[in-house]
Amino acid sequence: MKLYLVPTPIGNLDDITLRGIKVLQQVDAILAEDTRTSGVLLRHLGISKPLHSYHIFNEHQTVQRLVNQLKEGKTFALVSDAGTPGISDPGFLLVRACIQHDIPVECLPGPTAFIPALVNSGLPNDRFTFEGFLPHKKGRQTRLAELAGEERTMVFYESPHRLLKTLGQFAEVFGPDRPASVSRELTKLFEENRRGPLSELIAYFAEKTVKGELVICVQGQTGKKEKKGAGRREPDNDEEDE
Ligand code: SAM
Repeated sequence: MKLYLVPTPIGNLDDITLRGIKVLQQVDAILAEDTRTSGVLLRHLGISKPLHSYHIFNEHQTVQRLVNQLKEGKTFALVSDAGTPGISDPGFLLVRACIQHDIPVECLPGPTAFIPALVNSGLPNDRFTFEGFLPHKKGRQTRLAELAGEERTMVFYESPHRLLKTLGQFAEVFGPDRPASVSRELTKLFEENRRGPLSELIAYFAEKTVKGELVICVQGQTGKKEKKGAGRREPDNDEEDE
């Protein structure tokens, strides 16, 4: 009886861990956001397992059935189309239900788009906030207003056709000089990491037809001078914080 969450590649099919492969080989069945997409990966890995559909449209209905099967002793691996299940993808409801029913849950470490985007951005990453997708309509302005004074680097998922609109709104809220980055097609052949003030990113992407998947990072508000050694781990010492 166990639920594994197995991160899968966000582009480059080599980006799956040895343990991820082992778990996919060992479980009774794989729960997949899109059985066709996951079928391609499983064929690439030479794994043949029962594949069941688990996506946002059936998440609520399937959770109880899956919990019952897990309680009967089954072991499942949940995968999404790309990256870590539960991160801007289905998974949270099943994890929560498993915890409520004392079913062991284990999320393997592995690919996710926001970590390479954040590190590639060159923006401070000692503290950051993952914002995922902004609401498209209702609640968007409220969310942006809440972030206006955010001091941590902010990480957003966005679709290519909304990139310019979103960068424009960021320039209004954070100011056109705010350092930011756009990471496009991470781990793929045409990976691109574009860094600069929001105004420059807008000018650059306005000239192009933006394609592929992307992550936007925006530096937080920096009222004060950057602290010496920001981003580095503090040396351990025995003194307690005051
Ligand atoms: N579960 C995934 C993860 O762990 O990153 C995220 C899934 S979410 C539905 C898809 C979004 O992730 C895309 O719209 C894009 O913002 C981001 N993303 C996924 N793959 C990417 C890639 N190769 N390069 C840049 N962004 C990517």
